[in-house]
Amino acid sequence: MLESLKKMFAGNEGDLPVNPGSKPDISREKSAELYEKAKTYFPGGVNSPVRAFKSVYGTPLFIQKGDGCFVWDADGNQFIDFCGSWGPLILGHNPQKVREKVTEVMQNGMSFGAPTALENELAELIIKNNKHVEKIRFTSSGTEAVMSAIRLARGYTSRDKILKFEGCYHGHSDSLLVKAGSGLVTFGETSSLGVPKSFAEETIVVPLNDREALTQAFGQFKDQIAAVIIEGVPANNGLLIQDAEYIEFLQQICKDNGSLLIFDEVITGFRLGFEGAAGHYGAKPDIVTYGKILGGGLPVGMYGASAEIMGHISPDGGVYQAGTLSGNPVAMAAGIAQLTELLRSGFYKELNNKAAEFVDGIQRFATARNYKFKVFNIGSIFWFAFTDRDKIQCADDIDPASMEKFKVMHRELLNRGIYLGPSGYEVGFVSAAHSKIELEKAKRAILEALDIVFRNK
Ligand SMILES: *Cc1c(COP(=O)(O)O)cnc(C)c1O
Repeated sequence: MLESLKKMFAGNEGDLPVNPGSKPDISREKSAELYEKAKTYFPGGVNSPVRAFKSVYGTPLFIQKGDGCFVWDADGNQFIDFCGSWGPLILGHNPQKVREKVTEVMQNGMSFGAPTALENELAELIIKNNKHVEKIRFTSSGTEAVMSAIRLARGYTSRDKILKFEGCYHGHSDSLLVKAGSGLVTFGETSSLGVPKSFAEETIVVPLNDREALTQAFGQFKDQIAAVIIEGVPANNGLLIQDAEYIEFLQQICKDNGSLLIFDEVITGFRLGFEGAAGHYGAKPDIVTYGKILGGGLPVGMYGASAEIMGHISPDGGVYQAGTLSGNPVAMAAGIAQLTELLRSGFYKELNNKAAEFVDGIQRFATARNYKFKVFNIGSIFWFAFTDRDKIQCADDIDPASMEKFKVMHRELLNRGIYLGPSGYEVGFVSAAHSKIELEKAKRAILEALDIVFRNK
């Protein structure tokens, strides 16, 4: 999604060179027709920019149906899907348990704007199984959750500045649509028109995995930083897996300076394990945000913290935050059904093992052929990187030129029935619905696509 901000205006529709060994392009007649129509209704024909296929070949596929690990587009093409609606669908598409619960709850109405028992039920599932939150607040999106967490941190500390990392995406609220300027520690520069410069100046941006930059920032802005926000595992601009020691350092420097540490776990929450990246690292963030998986495919976000910190949220405290559809019963039902499945013993072990086997097979092949290609992987998240680096831990380590190779790969994969998010900066997700048979099929297609990419280097 970050990448979309930078690259969405590049544009290369209709530009489809043929590579030796390529399969013929799938039919996109109906999708193309729908896209033409959509362009008359929506800017760029979409309701979220990365969907517009600006960084890959061709026009966007309009999806008609999903079931398990498969999606079908408007032209009837079938794909094994690794986008998973950008993360929420850890059980795959349209899982029976979630569908049934949602359908049952819907019989009683869609929204009341008054408390329901379902909110308690979902909250209890989370709080009982997650030591990082004592109290929570539901929102309707990840963006809202993070925006509110930032307000809470500012209200709690009576400080204004926040620190974020280059290469992390935290939704599209003003304070967070900010990128690094030049220099190690910088005031942010807005990464979108319409964000006031004065807002961006409250956001400090530093590179990931750089202790010196953090130390310098805390020196330069002593007693001014309300919170440091980091993605549990940065997964919106490549997969930038941080070392445990760095996370520990980050936690300590926040503590030493009276700043809160916010783990934005909108992707990693309930993905790396029920307790997300905080559980994975054994970290103790002060505030956590969740979304995506939490809503089982419906719009839900949340933020949570200790009872003491959450006591600052209105109506208990002075930090205002609200929502007409917050805690919506239908969305709560989806969350309850999905999270209940995740809590089954062995769920994550099985999923993560399956994902590891899948990516290991791909990596072994690429390594054997000396391809400049790495699959980075944590839990059931993976990222295809055209690089020979063993680690990529900050945004600057990604070579933008390598995205040309992803473009070729993306097209070859679509033509072989594999759907990846339409950008080389985006990660892929393995779901519980991906059977070993489908993963094996997908792997074979990926190996073929790699051969084509590298024959054309
Ligand atoms: C997706 C995402 C968000 C934004 O969530 P939306 O539901 O799209 O508003 C925020 N933070 C992270 C880490 C995300 O991956």
